[in-house]
Amino acid sequence: MDHKLSPELEELRRTVEAFAHDVVAPKIGDFYERHEFPYEIVREMGRMGLFGLPFPEEYGGMGGDYLALGIALEELARVDSSVAITLEAGVSLGAMPLHLFGTEEQKRTWLPRLCSGEMLGAFGLTEPDGGSDAGATRTTARLDETTGEWVINGTKCFITNSGTDITGLVTVTAVTGRKPDGKPRISAIIVPSGTPGFTVAAPYSKVGWNASDTRELSFDDVRVPAENLLGEEGRGYAQFLRILDEGRIAIAALATGLAQGCVDESVRYAKERHAFGRPIGANQAIQFKIADMEMRAHTARLAWRDAASRLVAGEPFKKEAALAKLYSSTVAVDNARDATQIHGGYGFMNEYPVARMWRDSKILEIGEGTSEVQRMLIARELGLAG
Ligand SMILES: Cc1cc2nc3c(=O)[nH]c(=O)nc-3n(C[C@H](O)[C@H](O)[C@H](O)COP(=O)(O)OP(=O)(O)OC[C@H]3O[C@@H](n4cnc5c(N)ncnc54)[C@H](O)[C@@H]3O)c2cc1C
Repeated sequence: MDHKLSPELEELRRTVEAFAHDVVAPKIGDFYERHEFPYEIVREMGRMGLFGLPFPEEYGGMGGDYLALGIALEELARVDSSVAITLEAGVSLGAMPLHLFGTEEQKRTWLPRLCSGEMLGAFGLTEPDGGSDAGATRTTARLDETTGEWVINGTKCFITNSGTDITGLVTVTAVTGRKPDGKPRISAIIVPSGTPGFTVAAPYSKVGWNASDTRELSFDDVRVPAENLLGEEGRGYAQFLRILDEGRIAIAALATGLAQGCVDESVRYAKERHAFGRPIGANQAIQFKIADMEMRAHTARLAWRDAASRLVAGEPFKKEAALAKLYSSTVAVDNARDATQIHGGYGFMNEYPVARMWRDSKILEIGEGTSEVQRMLIARELGLAG
């Protein structure tokens, strides 16, 4: 892995850094407090081409790759995780399944609008009775031969970007039959927003990511054309595992950004805040805490960039993606806790970015595969799984 970014990636990094600082930072606190989706910021991210970063230009993308996406996510999450997860879910979960597994027609229909950010896509895997155990899908889809339509029934929960005014589709996993051994055949099907019988609940009240959109979805005899099948019938589970492997790199980059943002805020505050007649940063106890935070953020960055470089080079990356996700989410929580401590009582006040980072950090150990699931994946790659 080359430890230096190419000139193009460094320019992207600087551009997103400036955007996060100049546009996101001054506004996001109010959206967060009001639990409101920041349409104007997301529109601007779309204009910058961020939603099209890893997609080919012929579909409206920027012709970049997962490294470019990770760079953008890290810089956004240094300032705010709600906008970063909106981008991550829009790209890795909303558009990437169509890019990797869609037919030419599906790509032409959906990708240009998803790449421009004028439309968001969502990914519906998790169900009330099946998150880590994603194969326990209960949602069903039956092909009605007379009408040539899938008829979908079931419930999905915790689905990001699924109920905004600009959400255009959700790709859902559903059981479409049984294998000879009785195990379910799981397929992925595209459900456009507004399809009759497809109900989107009110947003959840969450601990963090309060300016991002997360909802429960229900499907009651929802009919979509047979052509809305994404990829092969019965391959939906394998496809989604591939999507999650890649998505872990994106979440790791986002977690690294949060960990680095905690360092940024702590360095600034440690110089400004005085106690006992001198800046609190003059105390070695504070310096050491921040030095450890910087060490963790730096190591997390190496881990996600290593995984992304392997993905881009077409090399195996499953273990490295799981390592990066596990490590970066752990250090994001550690850094958020330490940054809050350094800020004292102000760290508990929502107007301070570290309070938001503290609230936003915990989900990183849960979403797109819990830390336990990452350990299971790493152990399996080491040949230890039973
Ligand atoms: C804000 C938010 C946004 C999300 N966005 C999406 C989205 O866009 N799309 C989507 O499909 N899902 C989404 N999710 C769901 C998320 O991916 C799941 O919550 C997560 O995978 C965990 O699943 P679960 O909640 O069912 O927990 P469970 O699977 O019930 O796990 C509960 C606990 O048991 C542990 N556990 C489970 N099995 C084992 C085992 N074998 N060994 C050891 N420990 C185990 C888990 O690690 C966890 O600690 C989102 C969740 C949240 C909170």
